[in-house]
Amino acid sequence: MPVDQLYSELEAKVRALRPQDDLAPLHDAYVFAAEYHKTQTRDSGEPYMVHPLTVTLILADMQMDMICLQTGLLHDVVEDTSVSLEEIRKRFGPEVARCVDGVTKLSKLNLNSREERQAESMRKMLLAMVTDIRVIIVKLADRLHNMRTLGSVSRERQERIAQETLDIYAPIAHRLGMGKIRGELEDLAFMHLEPEAYSELVRETENRRQANEESLQQIRHDIQLKLSREGIPARVEGRLKRAYSVYQKLKRQKIAMDQVYDLLALRIITDSVKNCYAALGVIHNEWHPIPGRIKDFIAIPRPNLYQSLHTSVMGPGGLAFEVQIRTEEMHRIAEEGIAAHWKYKEGRKGASAAEDDQRMAWLRQLVEWQKEIRDPGEFMSTLNMDLYPEEVYTFTPLGRVIVLPRDATPIDFAYAIHSDVGSTCVGAKANGRIVPLKYNLKNGDVVEILTQAGHLPSKDWLALVKTSRARNKIKHDINATEREKAIDIGQKYLEREARRLGVALSRISKADLERVASDYGCSKMEDLHAALGYGKYSARQVLQKLAPELVPETVSEPEPAKPHQAALGDGSKENGDLVIKVKGIDDLLVYRAKCCNPIRGESIVGYVTRGKGIAVHSTHCSNVQNLMYEVERKIEVEWARSASEQFPVKMVIYTDDRPGMLNQLTSILFAESSNIRSLEARADEKHNGDGAIVEMTVEIKDKRQLEKVTGAIRRIPGVRDIERVQ
Ligand code: MN
Repeated sequence: MPVDQLYSELEAKVRALRPQDDLAPLHDAYVFAAEYHKTQTRDSGEPYMVHPLTVTLILADMQMDMICLQTGLLHDVVEDTSVSLEEIRKRFGPEVARCVDGVTKLSKLNLNSREERQAESMRKMLLAMVTDIRVIIVKLADRLHNMRTLGSVSRERQERIAQETLDIYAPIAHRLGMGKIRGELEDLAFMHLEPEAYSELVRETENRRQANEESLQQIRHDIQLKLSREGIPARVEGRLKRAYSVYQKLKRQKIAMDQVYDLLALRIITDSVKNCYAALGVIHNEWHPIPGRIKDFIAIPRPNLYQSLHTSVMGPGGLAFEVQIRTEEMHRIAEEGIAAHWKYKEGRKGASAAEDDQRMAWLRQLVEWQKEIRDPGEFMSTLNMDLYPEEVYTFTPLGRVIVLPRDATPIDFAYAIHSDVGSTCVGAKANGRIVPLKYNLKNGDVVEILTQAGHLPSKDWLALVKTSRARNKIKHDINATEREKAIDIGQKYLEREARRLGVALSRISKADLERVASDYGCSKMEDLHAALGYGKYSARQVLQKLAPELVPETVSEPEPAKPHQAALGDGSKENGDLVIKVKGIDDLLVYRAKCCNPIRGESIVGYVTRGKGIAVHSTHCSNVQNLMYEVERKIEVEWARSASEQFPVKMVIYTDDRPGMLNQLTSILFAESSNIRSLEARADEKHNGDGAIVEMTVEIKDKRQLEKVTGAIRRIPGVRDIERVQ
């Protein structure tokens, strides 16, 4: 069976590298993955298990450690089979589970968008997961195998995957210094994206190589000889520039194939930095260097840690060629990059101190690179987050990455998606579970925002949000709504007073209206309405300016509003247009007065405060009697028809001090499905010490429910009295 053969090959490879090691963990991971993938096939028709095995073979070639190899074998089980991450953790330990989780999350990323920003977020996301670099290494190996077998998927998918490889995976491999994988990824992508350009280019380079084969062999031989004469130990290899890299050079520099000096190159690999420079001397002594083509990447390494000396020389018969000179170590870094640092070292198990040191060295290196990068949009600058974990990386259900400051809430997330989503947000789910709006988002959370059309942001949100975008939008929304309401209220208020005082507003000219408005510093009537609505001025004052002859200066005869209204209007409230609907919750401009805290169903009255909108009081509230001396500030209000709100009502209950009392009290509220917000019971010292006082705040729908609840409480044997308090 090919799958078992592949596994034997893998085991042999690992065995050769580390003959002492116990390979049971590798075998376990193989058996486990093979069991779960056993019914699946790839697009090519071969058993699915071929894929994880080949990925792991690539990792074994890179000499990765056991955790990494196990991750390679298991990398698709969580995503593609019924296996949970928890099972992986139990069986293979937390490190493997973390790596598998990382790879799974990366596969969920929606990488289709070629938008610059998206790519950047993606990079950030990748780097957020660089807490374990092995995630990226496995992901690159995974992509490499998928690219090698791209032939068996549809043309459309080929193009998408190839483009994604070119846009994201190859650059990442490059940044991590993994030259070998990068080169292969790029060439495979190029081949699928532009098959004609690709084959033409390959044909031409191959022609050139064949035409110059003999000369190159001669040169190679010469170099080898001269170096050994100088006592420089070295091996000399021929190298053909990668197709995609040639293609880019031709395009970028608008040159012909003849001018690509490094199309054919020789590579000298020696033992020390000193000998690199010595070898360079030997070359320049023999052939004439082309000016401007000498590059010392040993003294100044490339940002991805690549080191080498490059030079181009004019060879025999006018054949220009490039020579690259490096040490073995530099060669390894050039081919494998970060993976070279992560390599399996014999006798080391798990995460050791040395391993941590390496990781830290790598991070420090990243900071160093960053300094050298001029383009601020560059990949490296985004590495910030890894070192300064001030950001969280979250996903939309479709895999879009939303980067937010630490401790950001679902409201920030909603506004980051769209201001409309933000303002109509009523709830949120993180990873499929409902979370409160004050929830602090975590790295990797998949967040879904629940919205309701017509919903408006609440002032409380300002305390929850962490982004200035959300804060500004909320403020803006609140101000806009408040103003709209104020205009509406102000207009109604003015009309009502006009009717009450017998001023026909419709007969007052627009010019006169605007003149009075400007007296109040308002440029439009609308602004004056708003000012009235906010309670800055009284409607009576305004009307007095509009029609001094009709409105007396003093409030000598403050007649009650109602009879007047009935007389002046046509008697019906609907027509009067004056009733302000009060919703149950404390509203923006219409709010329930704290002194009497009226609940739905109770008779209420509105009072236009100075600057705070309309306070709604219970008509029985003692404050109302005192306030209403300014009768023109009184306004009719009624409960809006919306039944879902709950009002907190605080009550004090005096009872006998006996067991079971609290139980009975709470069961009454339970039967009414009324929530208890707080409850406190204590002995009543005043009444012979045989009584108890229960103070509780409960949520009540309306007056009727309140009466029902208090009635039932009264009927409990041992309840002496009940009071509603404010
Ligand atoms: Mn895979």
